[in-house]
Amino acid sequence: MFQHWTVGEVEITCVTETTFDVPPEVLIRTFAADDLGEHLAMLQPGYMTDEFLLRIAIQSFAIRSGPHRLIVDTCFGNDHELPYFGDLRTTHLDSLASIGFGRDAVDSVVCTHLHMDHVGWNTVLDDGAWVPTFPNAQYLFHTTEYEHWLRHEQYDAGLAESIEPVIAAGLHRFVDGDHRITPEVRLVPTPGHTPGHVSVRIESAGQAAVITGDMIHHPVQVVRHRWASVPDFDAVTSVATREATYPELADDDVLVLGTHFIAPTAGHIRRHGDGWSWEPQR
Ligand SMILES: [Zn+2]
Repeated sequence: MFQHWTVGEVEITCVTETTFDVPPEVLIRTFAADDLGEHLAMLQPGYMTDEFLLRIAIQSFAIRSGPHRLIVDTCFGNDHELPYFGDLRTTHLDSLASIGFGRDAVDSVVCTHLHMDHVGWNTVLDDGAWVPTFPNAQYLFHTTEYEHWLRHEQYDAGLAESIEPVIAAGLHRFVDGDHRITPEVRLVPTPGHTPGHVSVRIESAGQAAVITGDMIHHPVQVVRHRWASVPDFDAVTSVATREATYPELADDDVLVLGTHFIAPTAGHIRRHGDGWSWEPQR
């Protein structure tokens, strides 16, 4: 399934790998349905089932910026042993190829952070060996993020097989959190979920969009921005990052593309009393 947006001269397509519904306590700390008040009508049934399961999507964003073709986040991938999700068998690469993002066509791969659901298609199994999926791409990894994971107990085979073959092939580039990729696309540091987490900012012809990564997992964290995510490395910083980011996104009318937001994936953060509301773009 594809969703498509135009931001100035930049074309963005969201390619969904898979979707699932999760009990809220698996994803959101201090989730309380009773506290959602007037926002429930926006959330249900599209973003949250009637039983309060949170509807989540795993997706890549394919960006055309001038001559460049970038992919932001590469989802779970095939053939990896995933601790909670089983091993997936999807046709995600075919979906990307069908919109002009074949394996040879991509020139940049951005990983907002190094969790399995964002790096899986960095590599594919070829005759029993993991090799980079996109041989003509430069893969951008935030230096802080990579160094964090390298010394982390969870940097096991499952994660390393999506990262190390890229480095071994010399296709990687370690960058800072504010790295500019093209004249229209740059990284924005949004730490908290992980130490080197980045979002991706697109600015073109007076319009702006941001791909959140896991700065926000679900629209409930727009309307309740102090609800941290269960997998956050540093929950205090993740809340602080949302507090620092939302005013500018709301006041500048930035199109927000929620990396794990099931369709409608795009929308706007609006000021709402002392807090925020989510206005999906349908
Ligand atoms: Zn994620």
